[in-house]
Amino acid sequence: MRTVIMGAPGAGKGTQSVRLARSWKVPHVSTGELLREAVKLGSDLGRRVKETLASGRLVSDAMMVDLLRERLAHPDCRSGFVLDGYPRTLKQVEDLDALLASMGSALDATLLIEVPDDTLLHRLSGRRSCPSCQRVYHVDQIGRRDGAVCERCGTGLTVRDDDKESTVRRRLQVYHEQTRPVLDHYRRQGSLKTVDGRGTPDEVYDRLTSLAQMANG
Ligand code: AMP
Repeated sequence: MRTVIMGAPGAGKGTQSVRLARSWKVPHVSTGELLREAVKLGSDLGRRVKETLASGRLVSDAMMVDLLRERLAHPDCRSGFVLDGYPRTLKQVEDLDALLASMGSALDATLLIEVPDDTLLHRLSGRRSCPSCQRVYHVDQIGRRDGAVCERCGTGLTVRDDDKESTVRRRLQVYHEQTRPVLDHYRRQGSLKTVDGRGTPDEVYDRLTSLAQMANG
């Protein structure tokens, strides 16, 4: 099962992709996470993308396709993957098609989690992350904005650089300008299946799994 999960920043792509990947027994491939990992490790790529990530702009298509090629070549991706955060531009759509074709495969499903902008802003600006185990919380859920610790590993929660208010606004703008055309493309192709991303994570998950079943059936 080779699936792409689309959606604006804060739509819940990460949360849902992890669950879908676990249920389908395929890896969750998040390009944002691969980049953040590279920054944390201080690799050559990490040093090159650090500022772009913090600004909310997109990393170049050329760098992204190299990163993705390397990740999809791992044996764990042989039986499929849940791809989260890619493609984000029309060039990346082409690159992904070419990459999969060179591996003798193609996408099975493209799922979109749709959430209105005001809900996204609320979710993102209240988001807190554990810098150690990456678990994500919302201030509404933890009942305070500062000083909370991760309930799994006890590390102090922080605001991810790209969840700062000005960056959030930029990420939404970038999404509308550069990623909307990707959705239009998949929509025209007839391969985009959309779910309402409002409600609890369980509700959204149920919508996604029934849609994915339809896409495969
Ligand atoms: P995400 O966690 O998917 O929201 O990604 C976080 C940041 O990583 C984005 O704001 C971009 O700066 C960068 N990024 C992730 N995926 C891509 C991509 N496919 N193309 C360009 N930049 C990306």
